[in-house]
Amino acid sequence: MGTMLLAGTPGSGEGCTTRHSGGLQVSDCPERWNLERPEAVAAVHAAYAAAGARWLQTNTFGATAPRLARCGLEAQVAEVNAAAVRAAREGAGPVPVLASIGPTGSPDPEVWRFAYAEQVKALAGVDGFVVETIVRLDEGLAAVRAAVAAGSGPVLASWTPARGGELLDGTGLEEAAVSFMESGAAAVGVNCGEGPESLLGPARRLVALGLCPVLARPNAGLPRIEKETGPVYTLTAQEFARAADEFFAAGVRLFGGCCGTTPEHIAAAARLASNA
Ligand SMILES: [Zn+2]
Repeated sequence: MGTMLLAGTPGSGEGCTTRHSGGLQVSDCPERWNLERPEAVAAVHAAYAAAGARWLQTNTFGATAPRLARCGLEAQVAEVNAAAVRAAREGAGPVPVLASIGPTGSPDPEVWRFAYAEQVKALAGVDGFVVETIVRLDEGLAAVRAAVAAGSGPVLASWTPARGGELLDGTGLEEAAVSFMESGAAAVGVNCGEGPESLLGPARRLVALGLCPVLARPNAGLPRIEKETGPVYTLTAQEFARAADEFFAAGVRLFGGCCGTTPEHIAAAARLASNA
């Protein structure tokens, strides 16, 4: 979503490499567009739905009060999240819509509890939740518990693994998986990182645990950071599809794209999934 909003050309399939006028500014919150450019957010969802995505995620990764404070929207948590759900439903048609929940950026457990409860309440009516890019176990568990308590569909829990598959706070892969499962997650997995290769090993190990369905959503490679335009991702759709094949062969049940994956990438992977 962020890649496509920065590109400013929903549906063009050029989100990785081409920057157009009218796109989101690198310094701004993507969630602002739920309020100010809902038609652009809906168009991005529509492009992924047309590409064959079987679930979509709302533009709410940073829609908790502590994160929205970075762009002065902390008093509008309810509006930002509700607008995101509307835009996703409008663009998605019949495709299920899961709510994206990301880290708050705060170190304070009291803040997490309040922030996630507030966000989850505002996301009423979604088909489930993806707590993603988790960096520390305690905060991730706070988010998962809030989402489970909402009783609005399955909750997927996904962290960005360090080299050994562990969370960035040092929590081991197995301990993390068991903890998220015990808190009510329906699937666990890994997302973001440095491209498919960085997630494949951890995903294999999660499958081997045999606890639950495993999720993997790699970035379109390791980005090159450009000062003017933000990150530029270089993994092609064909390369992404080849990676999808490896993940499916490894036993991953839920595969998708994180940063830099355009509708072209998803279309390539979805074609492959249809044949699997
Ligand atoms: Zn990412």
